[in-house]
Parts: sequence; C-alpha cells; structure tokens
Amino acid sequence: MNEPIMSVANVGKQFGGLIALKGITADFKEGQITAIIGPNGAGKSTFFNILSGALKPSSGTLKFRGADMAGVPQHDYVHRGIARSYQITNIFPNLAVLENVRVAAQAFRSRMNIWTNRGVYEDIEEKASATLAAVGLSGRAGTLAKFLAHGQQRALEIAIALVADPALLLLDEPTAGMGPEETREMVALIEKLAADRTILLVEHKMKMILGLSDRVIVLHHGELLADGTPEEIRANGEVRRVYLGQ
Ligand code: ADP
Ligand code: MG
Repeated sequence: MNEPIMSVANVGKQFGGLIALKGITADFKEGQITAIIGPNGAGKSTFFNILSGALKPSSGTLKFRGADMAGVPQHDYVHRGIARSYQITNIFPNLAVLENVRVAAQAFRSRMNIWTNRGVYEDIEEKASATLAAVGLSGRAGTLAKFLAHGQQRALEIAIALVADPALLLLDEPTAGMGPEETREMVALIEKLAADRTILLVEHKMKMILGLSDRVIVLHHGELLADGTPEEIRANGEVRRVYLGQ
C-alpha cells in the first residue's frame, strides 16, 4: 500500500509568458485521500488538469503505476484507471439519473464492442444500477437529472466517473456551491469511496479538508508551499500566512 500510485517530478506549466506551475514534485500514495489547496491563481486547476491528462506539462514527468504518461492521450486515462469529475456539473440534464450513468458505462465499455457481444447490455445495466447505489442515488434512478438537488447532481457526476472503476479518482471541488448539510453528505460519500480507491481532490473549504484528508498539498504562486498531514499543515506558519485574511 505504500507504493505511489501516481508521481509527478519537476512538473512545470507555462501559458505563453505566464508560469502557472514551477517544478512540482510529489508522490501520491495508494489508498490515501490527498487534498490540493491554495489561494486563487495558485495553480490548483492547472495541476489537476495535468494529473487527469487534460493538459500536458511544459516540463517534468507524470507517472501512473510506474508508467510515463507523456504520450498517453486524455481519453486513454480512464482505461488506465484514472477518472475525474469537473468543477462545473457535467451531466445530461434531460436524461434520467440512471440513463446518465448507463451512457457513461456504455461509453466506457464500447471497446468491448457492444454490437457483437450480447451479454454486454446486461453488464451495462447492472453496472449502472450498482454504481447509482454506491453514490446513494438508487431512489432517484428515474428522475430527470435536471430535477436533482445540486448535491445529488454532484453525486451523479461522481457516479459517471465511477463506472470506469478508477483506481485513482480525481474530484475538482466536489463540495462547490454546497451548504453545510450537502457538504456533510459529500464528505461521507468521499470517505466511503476512499475505502476502495485513491482520491485526490481540489477544495477551498479548509476545515472540511483538514478533517477528511490523509494528506494536504498547498500550492502558492505555482509552487509547492507545503506537503504533509493535516496536522502538519495546520501548524505550518507559512500556510497560515498565505491563508490569513482569506
Ligand atoms: P487556481 O485553480 O489555483 O485558481 P489556476 O491553475 O486556474 O489556479 O491558474 C494558475 C495561473 O495560470 C493563473 O494565473 C491563471 O490565470 C493562469 N492560467 C490558467 N489557465 C490558463 C490558460 N489556459 N491560459 C493562460 N493562463 C492560464
Ligand atoms: Mg481553479
């Protein structure tokens, strides 16, 4: 369990003249929940996009289970075991909740050729139902996605990522726009999902992160300011200074 599932070494990212990330080095351990935090503009989204294959780094390397990801296109990440959710909810609003998950399961399984393998249809149905149950949405299977509460839409989005059975699940601000009750429910869901997989998330809610995460990475001006347990981060003077007044 102590082998890193993902490791980044000296990762940098430039957008034209702007340096968004500078020489980030970090290992992500299997089975842990790691939070990436930092003030606005720190480089969190850029880092997250690199980890999920949406962006390629300008320099440095990204490895998943020891394999260099440099030449791997984003659409192959999910088949390697890396899936993500987005900061903005990404669902089909006019499809029922179960249909949303089924479309995702079908897309993921399409490599197995659904036109020639009849058994795949039943697998997809089963997978979609089981995944809905895993995020607590079985009772809303027939509801159009647009009629779900915000927190349930975010859970649905996570279900869409989960149909790929990712070993590494990346969550971009999973509690964005949620009140305390929805946030508590999302935290409980993340804790449950973490029993079977590695989770990496970007978040703003400091208190929630410190309670939920095994480890916290703090970015500031594109640099890795701190990397440690919640207790170490809480006690870190530089981190306190950066967050003062936020
Ligand atoms: P965070 O998510 O921590 O708020 P970002 O990763 O979004 O930070 O941004 C880091 C820096 O990179 C910011 O200065 C931002 O304006 C810049 N940036 C991010 N994406 C792009 C882009 N596609 N083109 C140009 N600049 C970008
Ligand atoms: Mg961001």
